[in-house]
Order: sequence, then C-alpha cells, then structure tokens
Amino acid sequence: MNVKPATAKISSLALKHNLQVIKEKAPHSKIIAVVKANAYGHGVVFVSSALESMVDCFAVARLEEALSLRSNGIIKPILLLEGFFDEKDLPIIAVNNIETVVHNREQLEALKRAVVPSPIKVWLKIDTGMHRLGVSLDEVDYFYQELKKLPQIQPHLGFVSHFSRADELDSDYTQVQLDRFLQATKNKEGDRTIAASGGILFWPEAHLDCIRPGIIMYGISPTDTVGAEFGLIPVMNLTSSLLAVREHKKGEPVGYGGIWTSPKDTKIGVVAIGYGDGYPRDVPEGTPVYLNGRIVPIVGRVSMDMLTVDLGADSQDKVGDEVILWGKELPIETVAKYSGILSYELITKLTPRVITEYVD
Ligand SMILES: *Cc1c(COP(=O)(O)O)cnc(C)c1O
Repeated sequence: MNVKPATAKISSLALKHNLQVIKEKAPHSKIIAVVKANAYGHGVVFVSSALESMVDCFAVARLEEALSLRSNGIIKPILLLEGFFDEKDLPIIAVNNIETVVHNREQLEALKRAVVPSPIKVWLKIDTGMHRLGVSLDEVDYFYQELKKLPQIQPHLGFVSHFSRADELDSDYTQVQLDRFLQATKNKEGDRTIAASGGILFWPEAHLDCIRPGIIMYGISPTDTVGAEFGLIPVMNLTSSLLAVREHKKGEPVGYGGIWTSPKDTKIGVVAIGYGDGYPRDVPEGTPVYLNGRIVPIVGRVSMDMLTVDLGADSQDKVGDEVILWGKELPIETVAKYSGILSYELITKLTPRVITEYVD
C-alpha cells in the first residue's frame, strides 16, 4: 500500500511550450514574465530558472519576492508591479537591479529624496480606466517631466497600464483604455506595456513593446474557456490518491452534516486532499475529479484533509490509486466553473502542505 498525499506536479516542458505559444502570438514584443505569488503557486524559483533564457524581465508584486529570485541566482531584470512600499528600500532596489513602478506622488517625492548607489529603472504607471493604481491622464506630463529631472533614475523611463476588462471580447472598454494609453505616452520615449494574458490573447494591437503574461504561462485561460483552446498546456497537475475505498449503503449519508445521502448502494472513495491543502471547501456536489481514466463526482462536504467521491458500485479502484484534482485530464477552468472560484484564486491558494514535485 502506498498512499501519496496531495502533490502538485509541475512540468517545465509545459511551461516552455506555453512561452513559445505566447511568443508566436506577440512576436515583436519583449516578455515580462509575471511570477508573483510564488509563480501563481507553481514555485517561483523553479519557474523563473526554467524560463530565464526565454524572457526579458520578470515581474513580481513584493520586494521580498524579487530578492528571493536574486538570492536564487536569477539575473534578468525584475519589475516591481506596484512599485516600492518603503523609501528605505530604494538602495536595495538599486543594488539588486530591480526595476520599479511609480504610481503616486508619495513615490515620486521619495525618489527625489533618495540617495542611491546607481540609477534605478522606473516605469510610470498610468491609470487608463482600471482606477486602482496609476497616475491620472492629466498628471502624466507632470510626472514625466519630474521623473526626467531625477539623477536617481535611469534616463529611459517605461510606461505601464493595465486593462480591467480585456477578457470581455465584446466590451469596447479595452480599446478606450488602449487609446488613452497611446495618447498619454505619445511623443514620449520609452517602452510601453499594457497587455497581460487577456490583452495578449484577444487584443493584438495592445501588444506594444512588452507583454506581461501571467496566468497563460501556466497553461490556464484568463476567461471561461480552457487554455487548450489557445494551444496552452496546464503546467500543474494537482494529484492525490485514494486513502480508502468503502462499501456504502443506499440511504446512508457521508461526511460532515450528512448533506448527501446515496440513492443506491455504491462505493465511496476517500481522497487524501482537503481544504487544508487549499482545495476549496465550498464546491457543489458533482464537482469532478479524475481517476483511472474517468471523471467521478465529489459527494458530501470537503473536509480539511479529505474529500469523498462516488466511485459507483462496480468500481475496481484501489487504495493508493492516483486521483487528479486538476491538470491535463481535468482543466482547472472546469473546477473553477463548478466551484464559482476563479482559476487564479484556486491555483494561488494551495497551502504549503501540498508537496511540489518537478517533473521532466
Ligand atoms: C498580475 C498582473 C499581470 C498578469 O496578469 P495575468 O492576467 O495573470 O496575465 C500583469 N500585469 C499586472 C500589473 C499584474 O498585476
């Protein structure tokens, strides 16, 4: 008997394949690979090392993430998507060849005061309609002029903006945002970037100088389609195994609250994964898992360490058999649809208890 607990199997071949697909979609753009949140749960050092020769820059959301890449041997530039949080960090940013976004006056003023060992590369973040971060359109010229004067930063600025509805193919808001971005940066020197995964797949005019792929690198669609429709391959297969196979009588409930009772005699499979591993607790009855070449439904409530599936009366499944929660055989987008939880959230919520295994 060998029951392997929850394991995320990560494929570098799939990762490289997806990068190639992305390059073909945007052949004239540089690639800023987004590896924030531990590379969307895939392991930031592994992913960045695997991709370093194929990309121009990495992007993260926190300085700690950038420094962890540096201490693990990554040498390509790293962009802080939300900029620096504390002006005391500016010398560290300069020394480590980290690039920063500037999105507000506080950051501008901090840069003016800063004493840094070498000039920092700065990207001006422009709010074109997301209304979350960025300087407003009528402040762009002011920030541009002010930044240009600073000896603390490199003479070549970059320009960043972010779409709020790039996944909605019938919305004209993306075009509005793109027009605003081009207008605001017209006659200004420096790389422009506005497209993340949705922009890359659906808005080729938005590719500009650099693209910022996140979720599609991991083989996952940013919309309610599946990644395979765009030629992408899931990088993660989330697996576990059967911890028990039990005879179950018609009319008997299973699990906490007894929320499901079986309409017939059957066999119940107990799978060694639960919300303590980051598998969502609130999935409806019938949410699929993949086992021995077929889909079986989750029944009863997901608990912390286990969940239960209806294997059917004739099942030949054995303790130790591998179960796939999401991956090539069962797209995470399908689980997202059942659970009402975005793929982005599912993939980043796995807990440290899940074993990470790097295959190929
Ligand atoms: C997270 C993020 C991205 C990547 O988004 P995806 O939809 O995963 O491709 C790109 N740019 C910014 C500013 C982000 O915060």
